[in-house]
Amino acid sequence: MNKIFFSKRIIDWYQINQRSLPWRKTRDPYKIWLSEIILQQTRVAQGLPYFKEFAKTFPAVFDLAKASEQQVLRLWQGLGYYSRARNLHRCAKEIVKNFNGKFPDSFEELKKLHGIGPYTAAAIASIAFHESVAVVDGNVFRVLARVFGIDKDIVSDEGKKYFFSLANELIDKNQPDLFNQAIMEFGALHCLPKNPKCEECIFSKNCEANQRNLQNLLPVKSKKLKVKTRYFYYFVIHSKNGILMHQRNGKDIWRGLYDFYLVETSGKQKPESLMKDDKFLTKSVTIRESKIFTHILSHQKLKVKFVDIEKAFSKKEESIARKLGLKKFTAKQIAELPKPILIDRFLTRNP
Ligand code: SF4
Repeated sequence: MNKIFFSKRIIDWYQINQRSLPWRKTRDPYKIWLSEIILQQTRVAQGLPYFKEFAKTFPAVFDLAKASEQQVLRLWQGLGYYSRARNLHRCAKEIVKNFNGKFPDSFEELKKLHGIGPYTAAAIASIAFHESVAVVDGNVFRVLARVFGIDKDIVSDEGKKYFFSLANELIDKNQPDLFNQAIMEFGALHCLPKNPKCEECIFSKNCEANQRNLQNLLPVKSKKLKVKTRYFYYFVIHSKNGILMHQRNGKDIWRGLYDFYLVETSGKQKPESLMKDDKFLTKSVTIRESKIFTHILSHQKLKVKFVDIEKAFSKKEESIARKLGLKKFTAKQIAELPKPILIDRFLTRNP
């Protein structure tokens, strides 16, 4: 298909069909950056309230840079991949410290910032600064693979390079912002992963996938990593008007968030036998046990049971609790803490 024809048609389509979204009404790189980072985590409908909340609480990059990590994680709660929230915070500080709060205005310079990869850098550079550089996300891979009949693996480096270079040949150099948003929106609303709307498509006559019935085979994506199942037993320890929680400080995705006393096992176990074997949990009384929750992360499936127990602490046990980083919080304080969404859901169902 003729390249100019492709970009002109997709921009025309976008002008008519685009959704009205707050980050489309601004050229402020800060707001565009916020929206892009949030939308990497979730779909527009779910991401919109998060964007509004972040933009309201931190109207400028200076406000975000000044916030505490706990405040940022609390607002991010529910989006998952908490490292992105920490990177967001770190990047805001970097922009304030090194650039006096002004975003660098080129793709190459933006890519050097913490947590900003080629995708986000291209989005900011093209939308806020009008630089002609293509954004390539999952939607773009899908649209290009189908329209041009490309069977390169989008997970491979070779595939990524190929699509990036093709998108840069197609981009409308006078309207890079519109082109990038158009192709992403077209993938999100029209050329859907399942049941693309081929019959009413502006490319139906030219699209290779439609002509050769390859919609379900394109884009090509090599197999995902095997998902590992882990078993978590969370002991919710009630003691004298409070519940013990601790802030995770290991190098994992939940770093900085609060959870309960955790015993991880290699398979299903009876909580009583875990309590018998764990010196810290002896002499406690079980109040209730939850059902098993299944929580899916990118490469892990967590099977989680919560066990509410009551325990009176000896002086020695209090000192062990302190060493383990466990602190007592009231229900009101717990509501304010940043927590993995799994913990939050449990608390909402079991106030
Ligand atoms: S014809 Fe179908 S597969 Fe091709 S671009 Fe349109 S919606 Fe996508």
